[in-house]
Amino acid sequence: MEPSATIIGASNALALTYKPEKGRCVVAKRNIRPGEVLLVEDSSVMCLDEAHVATNCSSCLAHCLAPVPCPTCSLVIFCSEPCRSKGLAGSHGKECQALPILLSHVHMLMSYRLLMQTTHAKVKDLVPILREEAKTRSKADLGLNDDSVYDSSDYRTLYHLTTNAEQSCAPYLLSQCVLAVLVTKLLVESRQYFVDDAGVAFTPGNEDLLLSGTTAFHHILTFTCNNHEVVECQMQKTPMDVKTQLIGYGLSPVLSLFNHSCYPSAFYRANEGHVRVAALRSVKAGEEVTLNYFPAFVEMDLIPRRAFLRFKYSFECHCEACDGDWSSMSSSSKFQIKCPECGSRVNLASKSCLRCRLVYGGSDTFNVREIQDKIFQAMAEIPKLSKCSKDNPALDENLERLVSMIELFDKYILPPNQAHVDLQWLLRRYHMYTSRRYVMMDGFR
Ligand SMILES: [Zn+2]
Ligand SMILES: [Zn+2]
Ligand SMILES: [Zn+2]
Ligand SMILES: [Zn+2]
Repeated sequence: MEPSATIIGASNALALTYKPEKGRCVVAKRNIRPGEVLLVEDSSVMCLDEAHVATNCSSCLAHCLAPVPCPTCSLVIFCSEPCRSKGLAGSHGKECQALPILLSHVHMLMSYRLLMQTTHAKVKDLVPILREEAKTRSKADLGLNDDSVYDSSDYRTLYHLTTNAEQSCAPYLLSQCVLAVLVTKLLVESRQYFVDDAGVAFTPGNEDLLLSGTTAFHHILTFTCNNHEVVECQMQKTPMDVKTQLIGYGLSPVLSLFNHSCYPSAFYRANEGHVRVAALRSVKAGEEVTLNYFPAFVEMDLIPRRAFLRFKYSFECHCEACDGDWSSMSSSSKFQIKCPECGSRVNLASKSCLRCRLVYGGSDTFNVREIQDKIFQAMAEIPKLSKCSKDNPALDENLERLVSMIELFDKYILPPNQAHVDLQWLLRRYHMYTSRRYVMMDGFR
């Protein structure tokens, strides 16, 4: 991946842009191929959910087979001595005592962790400046540093993530405010947050408490709008039979720049302390690159899907699947050919485009008959590609074939199409499968 100079962690295929109706979003600077890796970002914060603190390492989030305990509490485990040392010197060492309360609400845990890793001195120096910036800088520039670079490791980028506070109702805001008060109380009790330059704890005055409490509240709101799931890849009976299990949540500012689509052009995986985004299908230069926050159009019908997105993320979805009301998908055998000139449907009987009236002959670059044959051939190969295994030397070869099949559908088949969706799903599974870490479930062969 060739890195971008303006979005740290992203590929140079991506650019940041601002659209008044959508806010900030990511577009393709050049044509992108299916499977191309677009982002590898270290998360600002990642944590396990309550159900997985007893099964997964609190430092690296890996599934533990021979756990090493915390010397002080009985809540968490580590996968190895180095992970335990890292955890005790880092986030767990600062939250061990407070964990029974923090685990009751992931928003609290995240907010507490973010403040602890930022430190009180930095919050005191920076937050008043950032609050002023939020009022005075244009929305398109918020979060960019003085060199116009979007850098997750800069606290400014993290701070300026959207909160959706204006769209949230008062009772909800009040409930999150109560959590922020609790976080502040736990920060005081930790005696590790309100410390002077020499690291000695002091009793904070009202001004310090107010600043930390309101910053905790701000982080809770940004986390609610921007968090992503962290999953564990679980191999079922065969290597390509991969399921993902939710094990926690993370916050990654560059990942947050991607907008939702019910028919996304990319997908992300977050399971090794960082997030990775790869393209699912071809994206043309200038087009927006989208992810699916859930649900995708294949998972829920239009009306409940739009209602869910409105409720959870406060936006009205206008992706191509929603605006085009893709309630039924053309089956694998009944595909509609797309005119490569204008994207409309080709009339197979007259071999002409229904919109631009282009007529397709038999010998030019767009031979309808030949395309049909290629599509049928590709569909016949899907079962074989679904059965790849790690010991199979053809993995890379198969991946290249899969990518070229998706490109063929991208170019000539009008979405939505079942085989096209199946191929994209298979590409996701290839990426899950080549993940460095996965758990083999009972029955794995
Ligand atoms: Zn570990
Ligand atoms: Zn502990
Ligand atoms: Zn949609
Ligand atoms: Zn046309």
